[in-house]
Amino acid sequence: MTAAELRSGPTGSVLTHADEGFAEAIAGYGPAAGSPRLLVRPADAEGVASAVRHAIAEGLRLGVRSGGHSAFTGTDGLLLDLRGLAGIEVAGDLVCIGPGALWGEVAAALAPHALALSSGDTRSVGVAGLTLGGGVGWMVRAWGLALDALVGVQLVTAAGEVLEVDADREPELFWALRGGGGNLGVVTRFDFRAHRLEGVVHGAIDLDPAGLRDALGVLADLARTAPDELTATLLATPAMGPEMPESLRVTTVWAGTDPVAARAALAPLLALDSVRAESLTVGAYADALEDPHPPEGPPMSMAEENALLTDVSSDALDALVGAHEAFAGMLFCRTLGGAASRIPAEATAWAGRDAVLLAMVAAFRPGEIPEEEFAPLRAQWRRALGDAGLVYGNFRTRTDADTVTRMYPPATLERLRAVKRKWDPANVFAGNHNVVP
Ligand SMILES: Cc1cc2nc3c(=O)[nH]c(=O)nc-3n(C[C@H](O)[C@H](O)[C@H](O)COP(=O)(O)OP(=O)(O)OC[C@H]3O[C@@H](n4cnc5c(N)ncnc54)[C@H](O)[C@@H]3O)c2cc1C
Repeated sequence: MTAAELRSGPTGSVLTHADEGFAEAIAGYGPAAGSPRLLVRPADAEGVASAVRHAIAEGLRLGVRSGGHSAFTGTDGLLLDLRGLAGIEVAGDLVCIGPGALWGEVAAALAPHALALSSGDTRSVGVAGLTLGGGVGWMVRAWGLALDALVGVQLVTAAGEVLEVDADREPELFWALRGGGGNLGVVTRFDFRAHRLEGVVHGAIDLDPAGLRDALGVLADLARTAPDELTATLLATPAMGPEMPESLRVTTVWAGTDPVAARAALAPLLALDSVRAESLTVGAYADALEDPHPPEGPPMSMAEENALLTDVSSDALDALVGAHEAFAGMLFCRTLGGAASRIPAEATAWAGRDAVLLAMVAAFRPGEIPEEEFAPLRAQWRRALGDAGLVYGNFRTRTDADTVTRMYPPATLERLRAVKRKWDPANVFAGNHNVVP
């Protein structure tokens, strides 16, 4: 099938090198787009299916992109851009969302219904990639991961068919989609069961950076013992020039509008001597989401490592402080536990139900970061935090077989591979943390 024939079908907008505006359209996606030969922006699931069939028939490598926040959508073949499929429909507490919707758009659309979904912490992240890989955000302790609210999806398979998938229709595929990333097909609609939410208490507590070790200890205790309503993220940032001194901040969201209850839950943190300032206010969930601004100046590269920590021992806390110093980078630590940990491990393919903290260290440098510089630091991180520990795939900016084996326990990865062999034996959907069939 030629591009012209593809255009005459249900595919939606199709651009090739021969079309005016093609180079600008691709450049607009940034380096993560690669150098595709075809750019397809489908209008519906049939359009997606037609594009998938075309890519397979022509032997074009497929890139699938929704919110575009990962590094894995690049291709030299056919880039499928789903940002246009961004509808949000509300029927009672059932919310049907197109894959290209962004979480800020979802929060804003649900607020008038006094509804909300567990997502991430950032407005601009896409619904598709975050949900299929997990979704750790401000409601993770109150309601679980983003994928825990999923009750069904519409999926375009590697056979180019449009399928409805849920716990009754193709239950094993539904299990695999919740944590298996983009490995199993293109999701063209997500059906979520939303939660009622009148508002949140949210804000930040600024601390003296010298108090990092103690603050980490309190954060781990909160993850183990605080009411589910409380979720918190610690961010330790090194000095980055005279205008950005070293800082330590805990940002927090309480699922509810009672500031007294929120402050009571946060009491161990607020009691630390290192607390310098705090701002906790009652507001809308949509206002608690963030818009990170890329730093000014030359483009920066990032090298990162993360760990889902189950046993937050004193040694593990020392290791986090040590890694923060060694990487000369940012240290993020998010509380897990609560509702996310009560979902049975075998209910979804996402692994990490018994983790207490999700820790990530990230170093930023202008230009390329030579891997030789970071390999010893990565090795130190893994040694200190446990070689056998799991990593969170959505927080990885690179992928390889080692990453995939660190994302899942062996039995989960084997189960995922069996589902992959059934639904995508030729590995058409490979632009992700790839589960090899
Ligand atoms: C600034 C920033 C903040 C973040 N904050 C959080 C956070 O708070 N919590 C959290 O859990 N994660 C967070 N993340 C990580 C985020 O979850 C991942 O980057 C996620 O992959 C982004 O999804 P996307 O749709 O925007 O990305 P995309 O790059 O479009 O897609 C990501 C992956 O999913 C595949 N994919 C895309 N659409 C589909 C589809 N419709 N069907 C099947 N596969 C598809 C892609 O091929 C790719 O492999 C953050 C990332 C950034 C950059």
